[in-house]
Amino acid sequence: MLTKTRIYLSSPHMGGTERQYVNEAFDTNWIAPLGPNVNGFEDAIKGYLGNTKHVAALSAGTAAIHLALQLLDVGAGDEVLCQSFTFSASANPIVYQGATPIFIDSEADTWNMCPALLEAAIKDRLAHNKKPKAIIAVHLYGMPYNADAINAVAKAYDIPVIEDSAEALGSTYKGQPCGTLADMGILSFNGNKIITTSGGGALITNTQAMKDKAVFLATQARDDAPHYQHSAIGYNYRMSNVVAGIGRGQMEVLDDRVAARRHNYDVYKHQLSHLENITFLEEPAGFFSNRWLTCIKTDSFETREAIRLALLADDIESRPLWKPMHTQPVFKDCVHYTNGVSEDLFEKGLCLPSGSNLTPNDLERILHIILKTPNLS
Ligand SMILES: *Cc1c(COP(=O)(O)O)cnc(C)c1O
Repeated sequence: MLTKTRIYLSSPHMGGTERQYVNEAFDTNWIAPLGPNVNGFEDAIKGYLGNTKHVAALSAGTAAIHLALQLLDVGAGDEVLCQSFTFSASANPIVYQGATPIFIDSEADTWNMCPALLEAAIKDRLAHNKKPKAIIAVHLYGMPYNADAINAVAKAYDIPVIEDSAEALGSTYKGQPCGTLADMGILSFNGNKIITTSGGGALITNTQAMKDKAVFLATQARDDAPHYQHSAIGYNYRMSNVVAGIGRGQMEVLDDRVAARRHNYDVYKHQLSHLENITFLEEPAGFFSNRWLTCIKTDSFETREAIRLALLADDIESRPLWKPMHTQPVFKDCVHYTNGVSEDLFEKGLCLPSGSNLTPNDLERILHIILKTPNLS
């Protein structure tokens, strides 16, 4: 009997040259958290982002957010405004620093941080004599957030922005690469992202001095001395030269990966948009999404679950949209400014299989299941 293979939401997709770079690391014995692949990977990202920024390769995107908060001097007692509709890794480093996350809901047309709600939140925090120390905005699912509006609010109140671009490498906003739109940006190369090093991340800074400081903190904060001397608390957050080799190979196929994921979106949209109870997240003018994941919004929790369970029964992985941070048990006591958008998306939204390695047959199989789900019309 022909057995069907499992279809994953977003699985790693190697290009071919990754092994060559990894072999080089072995052949030259650069099996360390520094070496030619780390430098080469950083240069490749820097070039891809237009050569205007500086890039530090790190062990994870979460580590990059943590270091960004350190570089902005976020500490105990500070408040940080963070997009609520995101993965927990956007917010956790705020707590690592002993600071307090304050959650901001999304706008309907990008699903990302609502600029009006951000401004209302800042005014309210100021009324409580608390000036927020930083803003963390997220390009969720690869869709850029409304950067001009967010930056305008941030500038008006003189609050730095950390751009969580973990899901948005390859996306652009008004022609500018995501990751370069704020005071600091972060990327992730976790196994499910658009390109992967199995695990890894990067911090994007405006100056070489900021990058140097990030690398200093990421390599245990060693002072310049022949012995081990420390005048600051450091971390072990640098990327390994072995996995950086995977990253160099992946950068060579990044544009192909973006094209493939955008193609998935186009196929889903073409085949499903006649259905009244399914809508898609469209690109506003000037927004270009890498379509990391194709997401649909249905008309109800029941419709969403009917599709998800039908796919699961055929061994196809799909997943509800991110559960907003202000509804997470671990953040239940955090102050939040909400408008219902993210809770509605969580209730009715579903991420469809979106890997760049999906075959036409895979897409056909997925669409066949969705289209025969009862009550879709
Ligand atoms: C994946 C992800 C992160 C964390 O990156 P890691 O490399 O997994 O630590 C942060 N923010 C968002 C929005 C993510 O999707």
